[in-house]
Amino acid sequence: MVKANHNPPVDERNTGTCLPTGIYIHVPFCLRRCRYCDFFSTEKTDLIDGFVEACTKEIAMAVVDSPDVDSIYFGGGTPSLLSPSRVALLLDVLSGFVNLAPDTEITLEANPGTVDLNSLKGYRLAGVNRLNLGVQSFDDGVLDFLGRIHTGGAAMEAIDMARRAGFDNLGIDLIYGMAGQTSGMWEADLAKAVSACPEHVSCYMLTVEGDTEFAALERQGRTVCLDDGQVAGLFLQTVVFLENAGWRQYEISNFARPASGSCRDFRSRHNSKYWSFHPYLGLGPSAHSFDGGRKRSWNHGSLEKYLATVSRGRLPGQGREVLTTEQRFLERVYLGLRTCSGLDLIGLKHDFPDLFPAFSRALDVITRQDLAGQDGRYLRLNLKGMLRLDGICRHVADLIY
Ligand code: SF4
Repeated sequence: MVKANHNPPVDERNTGTCLPTGIYIHVPFCLRRCRYCDFFSTEKTDLIDGFVEACTKEIAMAVVDSPDVDSIYFGGGTPSLLSPSRVALLLDVLSGFVNLAPDTEITLEANPGTVDLNSLKGYRLAGVNRLNLGVQSFDDGVLDFLGRIHTGGAAMEAIDMARRAGFDNLGIDLIYGMAGQTSGMWEADLAKAVSACPEHVSCYMLTVEGDTEFAALERQGRTVCLDDGQVAGLFLQTVVFLENAGWRQYEISNFARPASGSCRDFRSRHNSKYWSFHPYLGLGPSAHSFDGGRKRSWNHGSLEKYLATVSRGRLPGQGREVLTTEQRFLERVYLGLRTCSGLDLIGLKHDFPDLFPAFSRALDVITRQDLAGQDGRYLRLNLKGMLRLDGICRHVADLIY
């Protein structure tokens, strides 16, 4: 099936830093590590005040030349462990160094186990206008298996409180693919999510990452995930279920509810920058930055190092890289094909004239195997193609290296 183009294509071209920048603030604290998670975070919540102070200093050092900014994203970790007054402080400091668009999207990720009506009202008052709740599941057995700190009931309550606090742009994250999960269980999760009518739903396949409890379990021979065929079935079920319920898939894992009767767009503006090579600046430990061209850099992935470096009046950068033409080409292909807007073939040919002929050979295979459809200048994977994306990109890499 070729997906319809529900939204105007995201501009994929690498047009440089004239595009508005997204600001990402990594809040590196969690009450308890989830068993599947390899994002950087620590349980040392007594360091929250020190982190906020350091982050204000990092803003003063790292944000130069008053960039135009139209998205701010508090991610983590668990940003909802910051009090509303700390969030307000960071936004206030930031606004002194950037040129904020009047309609800036300001997202805060929240764990349902860490919010109440007062804190949610406080975030809204502080200027947060988009809340993303890490629900993951409404099934208490699944939540327990994942090591989450909240129940399904608490997640529903958090959604209700978010609405009462005034959030009219609400996202819900769900995870699927854990051992023992049936399609009936997943359908119950999707139905609960839909019943809450969020503006945005992200559905991620469970993956077992490096240094996590799940990885240790797998090394001991325990099964953590469903097999590939079963996960593929749940992916197809996800898309059909959410599309039938009125949500539009705009990226492999992301779905937005069309805004009826208004011009609001509930796709994540901030995350769309990652798929379309727009510049972003990462603040906080382990945060990554990209200049919109070839340069990427990242901060220390250790809170202690981050705090010590900033307290010495230095930027907490740990590394940087200049992307090669081949890396940029592959990322353009991979990220473009993740979106339902599709990969802009004319833009790709224009920006990579030497590598495009190799891609044309891959294109033949993609078309022959019925993995995508072409609509004018855009190549769009169908659902079968989305399931084969990693293989497609490996094939393209083999052709260009
Ligand atoms: S999934 Fe979220 S709450 Fe759980 S450890 Fe990772 S960052 Fe923390």
